[in-house]
Amino acid sequence: MINDYPQALTIAGTDSGGGAGIPADVKTMQMRGVYSAMVVVAVTAQNTLGVQDAFPMPEKLIDEQFASIASDLKIRACKTGMLADPIRVKAVVRNLKKYNLGPLIVDPVMVAKGGAKLLSDDAIAIVRNELLPLATLITPNIPEACELTGINIKDKTDIKRAAHELQKRGAKNILLKGGHAENSQKADDYVLFEDGNDMWLTAPRINTKNTHGTGDTISACITAEIAKGHSMEQAIMIGKTYVEQTIKEGIHVGHGHGPLNHWV
Ligand code: PLP
Repeated sequence: MINDYPQALTIAGTDSGGGAGIPADVKTMQMRGVYSAMVVVAVTAQNTLGVQDAFPMPEKLIDEQFASIASDLKIRACKTGMLADPIRVKAVVRNLKKYNLGPLIVDPVMVAKGGAKLLSDDAIAIVRNELLPLATLITPNIPEACELTGINIKDKTDIKRAAHELQKRGAKNILLKGGHAENSQKADDYVLFEDGNDMWLTAPRINTKNTHGTGDTISACITAEIAKGHSMEQAIMIGKTYVEQTIKEGIHVGHGHGPLNHWV
């Protein structure tokens, strides 16, 4: 009875500035009517201007957070964000295999907008080989998809090819976010479903500085909608619409790339 409320989990890094990472995930899930739990993988000293420092959590504490959550809550979907380094990626993979936490949404976060590395280079292969095969959905942007597939993505044909490559490597569904395409006036995302169906999601590019935490927000929204029982297609459509609204609204705090307004 008490476990009937939809519950989701974010496995990621904190953002002391409140705009991205775990704070963005928690706000998003709350706004979508889903209770959120969290496994803190790393702590960052960060604000709207950038990441000033980051520190990974001890493996033991990562294991203990998973154990605490799994022994009490009934998690229906989970997502990963910033995973820091090989030790942390391996710890997360080990725990995802140990516990049943529902469908897994992998946001393969690598570099923050300001240029700070949120995943070390030597951890990329572990994400590719060990985490990606567990993903019900993976949500890379173009640079992340290039890193994971080795494909130099320049146009829509390359985007499709990269998505199929990610599926061959074990991810069931792919949302490849085109917002980082050079000179593009649109934010075209490509979706490849488990059954081989696909679709393009087109939206005009929004000209704003308030883009901090967009990747976290769309993946958290999709995770929340899956936890509520929506299909993958419905969850992705809701995620895309929700993140567009949060970018349009924005919240004007700080001196750099301001946060989204999750209160929409
Ligand atoms: N900091 C943390 C802890 C994150 O998890 C993420 C994104 O996943 C970011 C920063 C990235 O923020 P930005 O949207 O500015 O690239």
